[in-house]
Amino acid sequence: TTPQLLAGKRVVITAGATVEAIDPVRYLSNHSTGKMGFALARACVAAGAEVILIAGGKVALPTPLNVKRIDVLSAKEMLLAAQQCVDGTHHELQFMFEEEHDHDHDHHHEHHHEHDHHDDCDCDDEHSEHSEAHAVTSNESVRDADVFIATAAVADYRTEEAAPQKIKKTQEAMTLSLVKNPDILATISLAHPELFVVGFAAETQDVERYARGKLISKDLDLIACNDVSRADIGFASDDNAMQVFFSEHYKRESVTLDKASKDHIAEQLVTIIGEAIWQ
Ligand code: C5P
Repeated sequence: TTPQLLAGKRVVITAGATVEAIDPVRYLSNHSTGKMGFALARACVAAGAEVILIAGGKVALPTPLNVKRIDVLSAKEMLLAAQQCVDGTHHELQFMFEEEHDHDHDHHHEHHHEHDHHDDCDCDDEHSEHSEAHAVTSNESVRDADVFIATAAVADYRTEEAAPQKIKKTQEAMTLSLVKNPDILATISLAHPELFVVGFAAETQDVERYARGKLISKDLDLIACNDVSRADIGFASDDNAMQVFFSEHYKRESVTLDKASKDHIAEQLVTIIGEAIWQ
């Protein structure tokens, strides 16, 4: 059994790639799949936490058991969702996103209803995960979250405004004008000094120097760094390896997590988070 280091804690996690519309059929995004964030959501539930998972527009993973999931598309939507989840005022927001963007979730509701009618059905794992996920969406108290974990690969830039109609290929060359997206992690962290905040970083060099810089500039408690120059771990891989750096408020300075499945890395990270909270 997993130690219940996060018993009673409310954890908000961002995961996967954001999607920034160019026009009604095209977008800017990246290769993040959301696997690390989803593995962390499972590990947090196993450690006794109440988990809200905010998934970016390209995530195609089943919702983990007992996790409340909110699907968003863009960085701006992800920031809004994260702010309201961290403040505990996200109920209307979830409804809005499910209505407007989340066609997948409509399927999940259908599965859920099917299950209601066939109590003895031989559900596969994925479907039973969905129905459980929706069974925990109501009766939550409005209160601040305790932990925020930002695993999402947020697009750094977006189009200033998506074109209302499909852009036609009439010109030989075209220029997309981009504006910087908000930094979700820094915005949330700086607005909530009491929140325990975990950031991720993908670096190819000077890992510790960049990590320590972000710990300070984004006011983080922990930062977990992937070495993205390694081909055998990271983005779509099932494995990961990382180095975790602590802010100066903690006893430990850093921990290295050797290459392992993302599930195992997530379990170790949740133990590290729990121990830091209780130190
Ligand atoms: O600054 P950098 O992009 O390396 O920071 C990575 C960390 O910041 C990750 O935890 C990522 O989820 C978060 N981030 C964010 N919003 C952004 C950019 C990064 O939350 N716009």
